[in-house]
Amino acid sequence: MIDLHCHTLHSDGTDTSEGLALLAEEAHLTALCLTDHDTLGGIPGFLAMQSQVKVRLLVGTELSCMFLGQSLHVLGLLVNPDDATFQARLVELRGRREDRNDRMLIRLAELGYPITREEVQAQADSPLLSRVHFAKALARRGYVRRPPEAFERLIGDDCPGFVPRQELTPYEAARWIREAGGVPVVAHPGRFDGGRFRWDDAMGDLQREGLEGLEAYYGEYRASEQKYFLRLADRLGMVATGGSDYHGGNKPGLRLGRGRGGLQVPDDLLDKLETRQRLGSYH
Ligand code: AMP
Ligand code: MN
Ligand code: MN
Ligand code: MN
Repeated sequence: MIDLHCHTLHSDGTDTSEGLALLAEEAHLTALCLTDHDTLGGIPGFLAMQSQVKVRLLVGTELSCMFLGQSLHVLGLLVNPDDATFQARLVELRGRREDRNDRMLIRLAELGYPITREEVQAQADSPLLSRVHFAKALARRGYVRRPPEAFERLIGDDCPGFVPRQELTPYEAARWIREAGGVPVVAHPGRFDGGRFRWDDAMGDLQREGLEGLEAYYGEYRASEQKYFLRLADRLGMVATGGSDYHGGNKPGLRLGRGRGGLQVPDDLLDKLETRQRLGSYH
């Protein structure tokens, strides 16, 4: 079994990247791809663990895009961590995230929930600040009882405190990932628009934009969703991937490699992903 989607404290998870490598070994995974949002900050420590574990440690990231007016996440799997152009592009994305964070602090104050940047930073163990850290800071101040309530009432995508950032298009994300030697994959497609979305049409559009895979196995899918996305990948000739989207304590109950319990991502998906990587983009 493999897991091609997880987060460390370098973005919005709570584990160190070294700790995740050990956790994957304990879970008897054969491969683990680290996919922190907008950063490869955890990668050096992660790859340094390779001499101590049998599980193959792979490099990835997760980028946020806009597609049809909604947020769409794109995984860049197997990117080259030494690609200077890609690193510079990630710096640009983290700058846009910082702008969004500054504006979110102002918006929250306008709504009657003032918090400081320092209070948000105090909830994070790395410089990258995510809405997860905002949610914890809002709970700490007593504005909400628990962090999930902050997403429900204040900073979730449809909430008054939500502030959009300058997002990539799927086309740009796919190109950036391909140019860094990786394979661009649509993350957790089942989550888009509450599951009522016409994915067959939309995925064809995304494929034309350069997306080459879709996450058919996911920590929080129902069995019917997994089946649907596996068939869709097959029909469109896209590569199927899978992962837990493990965030440590920031997504309680979700286990590395196992998701909510029933996740099993087969090893041969990685062989197919690597074949796709070598073939290169058709675009
Ligand atoms: P950001 O990238 O800073 O906009 O934060 C997005 C992250 O917040 C996602 O990657 C999730 O980890 C988390 N998140 C987004 N929406 C929710 C939600 N409704 N409930 C809990 N966590 C969420
Ligand atoms: Mn996340
Ligand atoms: Mn995501
Ligand atoms: Mn994720």
